[in-house]
Amino acid sequence: MDSSINGFTGFGRRNPGFVSAKDAIRKAEIEAQATQHSPVQQARQTLAQAQAFTQGLGSAAGGAGAAARTAAHRSPALKFAAPVSSKDSGLSFDPDKLARIPEEDRRWSWVEVDLSAIRHNTQQVRARLAPGTRLMAVVKADAYGHGAVQVAKMALNSGADYLGVATIDEAIELREALIGAPILVLSQPPETAIPLLLGYKVMPSIYTADFAIAYAEAADAFGITAPFHLAVNTGMNRIGVRWDQVAEFMHQIGFHRALELVGTFTHFATADEAQTLDFQIQTKRFLEALSSLRMAGVDPGIVHAANSAAIIRFPDVHFDMVRLGISLYGYYPCPETLTMIDLRPAMSVYARITDVRTVPLSDGVSYGLHYRSRGASTKICTIPIGYADGLRRALSSRVRFLFNGGLMNQVGNICMDQCMFEVDPYARGLLSRAEPMIGDVVTIIGGDGDNVCTVESMCELLDTIPHEVCIAFGTSRMPRLYR
Ligand SMILES: *Cc1c(COP(=O)(O)O)cnc(C)c1O
Repeated sequence: MDSSINGFTGFGRRNPGFVSAKDAIRKAEIEAQATQHSPVQQARQTLAQAQAFTQGLGSAAGGAGAAARTAAHRSPALKFAAPVSSKDSGLSFDPDKLARIPEEDRRWSWVEVDLSAIRHNTQQVRARLAPGTRLMAVVKADAYGHGAVQVAKMALNSGADYLGVATIDEAIELREALIGAPILVLSQPPETAIPLLLGYKVMPSIYTADFAIAYAEAADAFGITAPFHLAVNTGMNRIGVRWDQVAEFMHQIGFHRALELVGTFTHFATADEAQTLDFQIQTKRFLEALSSLRMAGVDPGIVHAANSAAIIRFPDVHFDMVRLGISLYGYYPCPETLTMIDLRPAMSVYARITDVRTVPLSDGVSYGLHYRSRGASTKICTIPIGYADGLRRALSSRVRFLFNGGLMNQVGNICMDQCMFEVDPYARGLLSRAEPMIGDVVTIIGGDGDNVCTVESMCELLDTIPHEVCIAFGTSRMPRLYR
């Protein structure tokens, strides 16, 4: 049999039945497109065909087996059915060894949390409280990005006695870490979450009678009590029973034997503002609410109102408990507090340089090419941190990073996963003449030499508060390391 085509017998000649990698890919793709079955069925069919190729040709010619494997890799249908475990794929990476590669060596950007700062800040606040006043550590939003379990444990260890969260799932995370301290959800969850509250022994804030009764009924059915804190609206108009209706509210729900009023609280809208009139109005209304409860024979339980700003500025409103949020993490809620307490920021953010180049004069950098190079004396360095990591895009070309002790301008638009900054080797403040290299550490938040990049300076650029900036870094996909 003449296997040549038109008499041509050069290197293009094939053995009968030979299937090249390209043929296998093409065949799989054509069949995947032609078959209108479900993707799973398509994948099974093409996989069966690929296996047939491999079995027919594999042992005789290793190349053909590889060809079929390549086909299995490239065909969109086959990808779906591709082996996922390293065992099946014939590779022998030890999963334990893979798991041991440290997080900061997988991607060169990370968040560091200094738990001794959490301890210091807790103690600083504790020292300002009258004996017997409780301290609630507010660890919502994964402890403002610092890690709820780690922060809660450290705070409880350093003088806090209560925990505050925003959602039932945040509370469950703490309970599952075997944290036994009282936990208050700082809002009223949906009624459908009531079994979770009871099951995990988490207290809700309550402000509707419907919720109160549903909660009490559920607790009663299990033969347990239904502890809660009453939220009072004194002017912020977010949640709570109006200050002049609390007695009436308690009267409405008071018939239920399971309900147990553990605490009564309000929240200040302006404790961090220079003018204190609104703060005073809220305080006055809260005091009215408390006395109306007492007059109605209701014990308000643990009375609490102060957030960080009020804790530091207004000892008069500490009552029976304070709710410490942002200052637990080392931030000053307002300029007035700067000289009133010694706080240490717990979070820092670092990256390592992943690329360095000189860019010809006037060449652009990053999306839009808005930044233009100042010429060959400056180096453009890339770091793997972007707006998906909390480095907000609005900081583009405005923020500065610390490298080798000096402040460097971030240049060009901040991308989703990366951004660039420039190093002028003669920049002032450098510890030594800077020759940036791949792998060098850059400080995004933190100190280096005499200089420091602060969350507060980012807040100024972004016109926001430290809460938002550290939550953005700390709850991003960056690894969080504890020091
Ligand atoms: C978040 C929150 C706090 C903590 O506020 P900071 O300003 O971060 O100290 C206190 N109370 C309530 C009700 C909160 O929602």
